[in-house]
Amino acid sequence: MAKTDLILLAMEPSSTLDLLERALHAGGYEVVIAKNPPSLDKALQETIPTLLVIAEKLVDKSGLDLAKAILERFPTLPIILYAVSHDPQAALQAIRAGLSDYIFPPLKIDDIVQAIQHSQKRADQMGDWVRHEVRRSTASLEERVREMDTLVKLSRSVTSSLDLDSVLTSVVTSAVELTGAEEGHLLLLDEKTNELYMRADRNYDENFARTFRLPVKDTLAGQVMETGQLISFCQDTPNKIKTSYLVYSLIYVPLRAKDGVIGVLGVDNRIKKQRFSEHHEKLMMVLADFAAIAIHNAQLYDESQRERVKFETTITGIEDGVILLDKNKNILLMNPSAQKAFGLGATDFTGLPFSEVISTSDFKDLLDSTIEDPLKSHEIAFDDGRVFSAQYTPIAETGAVITLDDITHLKMLDRLKSDFMYTISHDLRSPLTVIMGYVELLERAGPLNDRQRLFIKNIQTSSQSITALINDLLDLGRIEAGFDTRKDRVPLEIILRYTVDNLGRAIEYKHQDLELTIAPELPPLRGDPVRLRQMMDNLLLNAIKYTPVNGKICVTLKAEAEKIIFEVSDNGIGIPKGDQKHIFEKFYRAMNAPKDIPGTGLGLAIVKSIVENHQGRVSVESELGKGSKFVVQLPTQQHAND
Ligand code: ADP
Repeated sequence: MAKTDLILLAMEPSSTLDLLERALHAGGYEVVIAKNPPSLDKALQETIPTLLVIAEKLVDKSGLDLAKAILERFPTLPIILYAVSHDPQAALQAIRAGLSDYIFPPLKIDDIVQAIQHSQKRADQMGDWVRHEVRRSTASLEERVREMDTLVKLSRSVTSSLDLDSVLTSVVTSAVELTGAEEGHLLLLDEKTNELYMRADRNYDENFARTFRLPVKDTLAGQVMETGQLISFCQDTPNKIKTSYLVYSLIYVPLRAKDGVIGVLGVDNRIKKQRFSEHHEKLMMVLADFAAIAIHNAQLYDESQRERVKFETTITGIEDGVILLDKNKNILLMNPSAQKAFGLGATDFTGLPFSEVISTSDFKDLLDSTIEDPLKSHEIAFDDGRVFSAQYTPIAETGAVITLDDITHLKMLDRLKSDFMYTISHDLRSPLTVIMGYVELLERAGPLNDRQRLFIKNIQTSSQSITALINDLLDLGRIEAGFDTRKDRVPLEIILRYTVDNLGRAIEYKHQDLELTIAPELPPLRGDPVRLRQMMDNLLLNAIKYTPVNGKICVTLKAEAEKIIFEVSDNGIGIPKGDQKHIFEKFYRAMNAPKDIPGTGLGLAIVKSIVENHQGRVSVESELGKGSKFVVQLPTQQHAND
């Protein structure tokens, strides 16, 4: 024991303490005395004693209890308990509590020194053992940390990297490094030949790895494929596992996918007889799972890529313009036809807000109106004369798609047709007026019999309906041609009251109930009062016509977000779903329109043209047998500012 060794004596003053102190000094030890528990505590904070001798009782505390508490803090400190008299029970308790020795009077100096040396020696041995154990545990912990680190890095690359080659090579490299094997490989099944080929390897000759092929039948790897069970062995003599070479030890684990085993991950030793542990087998299983996930991810990615290419080729190839938007109306995709339609060249607009790329106001309306009216299509007119039919379709979770169909040629045909109709109508009107005039004169030309009078009545009725048709056609022609350029300040509420008054007799005649709601202080609207009245007339007349006796009609005029809304609803015959999108076309009458109700099928076409001439929109909601609701929206602001 070195002379600087320090012995702490925890005892109250006594002749024994003096004896111990003297003896220890004589033996060359440094001595510190603690006469009560607080000074013992202090001494332990300030010094690191080599050994502690503690009295059975220190002031008011049990020496054994104090020693136990000290051992919890300093487990390797040798402690000797000093008892005033020998008590075998107390000695046993001290030893059980982990104390090094137990001394009692009569004390001889030799005995004291021997006890101290003995305790010190045991403490040294224990210290050595603890240090050894710590080193061993640290090494093992370091190994585990290294393994965990490798696995974590690998799991990250499995989920983030789509480069399958590098991920699988990392898996095999990790397998070799973590098991300490000489070489490793990952075999995958070639379903066509039922052979295994080397998809990734570590420490193999490149040519060998490339040309390697192993039948599933009658091989160990094949057995793993078939049973899905791990194989691990270590032999004294090398075992021939493949046609080409021999190994001492090996682990083969299956690569499990959803539909079964797709390959094998293996490590082996050809030169050294190293035995693989159970822990190595577990690591290999984890690595095989990583490889299987990576392969699955890569397959999914390949599939989605193929689908994407297919989708892109289709979208790029079709003649219709297609614009895909995300939820915030940013462009996800714009196909060449759409870019061409807007004259945007080949610039990539992906990610930009749609409104920044395309500022056409009609589109703004299309996007805005879709909030309450999805799946709506609008006609968008370009300054150069082209007209597109644009359809906005919301797509759940993604955003929306806008499709653009160039309908310029259809519009042109429609125009030609309208011009033709206009000309014909015009030319028909003069002879018709002559016919009507002469029919009226017939009565005055001489007496007529009843039969002749009936014939004349029929001619008059037919001529009137042809005149009405011609008038409608001429009106439509004029409206479509944009001849109505009047932009007066129109008091819509007054016009509506006038219309209602005018049709009052027809309503009364059918005993219908009319509910009229006009909101106060409607914003000003500029337009053509004659045409706007015609629009109201047509809608209200239809409601009266197609609603049976005693039915109910509601007419509302109100303002909403810079728009005037005019609604006419009824509880009449309704319109079949399939007919609803056609009823605004010229001459179209719904399938259920009763034959005895006269009509030309032009009223709603006139309504649509008038509304669109005022930059508005008209729509219909209807349920067969329950009724219909026509809604006209007319913007107020732009006209008010005119
Ligand atoms: P029509 O002269 O035939 O009334 P319109 O152009 O005014 O022509 O209307 C076209 C068709 O729409 C009508 O023939 C009818 O089938 C249907 N329709 C219009 N309004 C109503 C309504 N309020 N209720 C039921 N059907 C209607």
